Amino acid sequence: MDRQKQLADLQVQLQLLGEQFAKRLKEELPQLADRARQLERSSDPAEQLEHLQELRNQLHKLAGSAGTFGFKELGDQARSLEQQSQQWLSSLELQRKGLETFIDDIQMLAGTSDLCAAVVTAPSSVEMSLNSSPNEDCHLIYILEDEESVGESIRRTLSTFGYQASHFASTAELDEAIARLSPDALIVDVNLGNTQQSGLEYASSLLARLPKVPPFLVLTTQNDFDTQLQAARLGAVGFFSKPVDVAKLESRLERCFAQQGGTPYRVLIIDDDYELASHYRLVLSSANMLVEVINEPNRILETIARFNPEVLLLDVNMPDCSGPELAQMIRFNDDWIRIPIIYLSAETDIGLQMNALLKAGDDFVTKPIADKSLVATVFARAQRARLLSNALSRDSLTGLLKHADIKEQVAVEKERALRTGKPVSVVMLDIDHFKKVNDLHGHAVGDNVIRALANLLRQRLRRVDAIGRYGGEEFLAVLPECSGTQAVQILDEIRQQFSRISFSSGIGDFNVSLSAGVASCVELEADALIYAADKALYAAKNAGRNKVCLAEA
Ligand code: GH3
Ligand code: MG
Ligand code: MG
Repeated sequence: MDRQKQLADLQVQLQLLGEQFAKRLKEELPQLADRARQLERSSDPAEQLEHLQELRNQLHKLAGSAGTFGFKELGDQARSLEQQSQQWLSSLELQRKGLETFIDDIQMLAGTSDLCAAVVTAPSSVEMSLNSSPNEDCHLIYILEDEESVGESIRRTLSTFGYQASHFASTAELDEAIARLSPDALIVDVNLGNTQQSGLEYASSLLARLPKVPPFLVLTTQNDFDTQLQAARLGAVGFFSKPVDVAKLESRLERCFAQQGGTPYRVLIIDDDYELASHYRLVLSSANMLVEVINEPNRILETIARFNPEVLLLDVNMPDCSGPELAQMIRFNDDWIRIPIIYLSAETDIGLQMNALLKAGDDFVTKPIADKSLVATVFARAQRARLLSNALSRDSLTGLLKHADIKEQVAVEKERALRTGKPVSVVMLDIDHFKKVNDLHGHAVGDNVIRALANLLRQRLRRVDAIGRYGGEEFLAVLPECSGTQAVQILDEIRQQFSRISFSSGIGDFNVSLSAGVASCVELEADALIYAADKALYAAKNAGRNKVCLAEA
């Protein structure tokens, strides 16, 4: 869908919600007035208390939602009346005179006649997320490097990793290319021999001209503090000394793009106020998050298990049970201990908030919350939660699945293949003579080689394929809906690409190869399937390495 249209649709939906809320007010405000009248007439203290409690609850709800739908003044008045009712409830002493004013004020609030839905505007986060549509499949990288051979070598290696890279030897050529098409990332050499200007001076004026600043990386022979500071001030996300370790450079690019356009965060909202929850859902969805809403607390456990949210937004006050009670129940389950819980509350009493928070939650936002703040709060929590979760469940060097998880994935995909009758392939990969790489170039350079292969696999395999680090320099992958012959073909391309990557160390440039074994016989148990791929891998090693072999069926 075209972005303008998406934005317009969102605007319409927000407007509809606002109108729905205005309709609801038309029913609820007279009820509030009725209740106030009953309180006025009553002389029985117990009855008065009951009316007052009910008024407090209604005002509380109104205070939390009205602001969100554009009725800010109404919300503020409700909040102030709520606080007043709370004071009375606490002191339990009804002072007749004060009560009269209180009731008058409620009648006035309820008599608010201008209930046309306020114009609710889409938050700017919407425009942000709609305007930036990173092309996840093939990122365009521009390299400004006056040394022809260096620029070409970086371009070639990045192309091997699946990027669309272009190299420019002069600022004029780069200017021309950018005028035609903006890149997704920019790599600039600080020392340009062919101009008076430094690469950073050029970059500074270039970035100021661009409507949207792409991630920007710096190459240099000047590894000093001042140059680094200058790069940092320009917003550089990477700083690389020459000779450039392109595998490291590629890792940095990958991290940038992963942060930019990763899978949407999954957010679950639990609030008994339907319109308010729907409003939050629209706002967060527009910021590219995947949102589910439940209005009945008793569905929460089943929904968490199915939807697997990364953040929970939990209303504090609900009719059947409170937010903190639900939070405690969620924390009974060890699997859900890491999900951040953010309370949504119209509660202004900080004492009450603290008690609720201490039970099991992580954060508080007070209703009404501005759309922008909601997006920022949820985004920050989700980002942190995902980082932590990845750190725990993924291999730290490569970001791939750990041994046990990839094995499990093989079992899952094998079962699926049996059910659907579609093929599945299992691949075991191992770097050739890796011990020599370590011995000759050092362990840190060896680590780079492992990381580079992991990145290449991620780039070249599909999203549905699972990839894991099985052991030191051994990888296991499972490719659903892919026959053995197809897998051999794909792996052979990866084998060739890997062998063309030029690594560098203090000793000089070098290349590395890999061997792989493929098995795709679904009749075998998962363990036997992995064993068959391993046997095929050793056949490849025995046949001279730098080869891909298919297991015999
Ligand atoms: P082959 O072609 O037969 O696979 O030979 P190879 O040298 O690759 O095989 P071998 O299994 O003998 O050696 C693997 C080496 O990988 C040994 C180990 O020190 C090294 N290694 C394992 N994990 C890591 C790691 O995380 N980082 C680095 N740098 N080296 C590692
Ligand atoms: Mg090896
Ligand atoms: Mg090995």
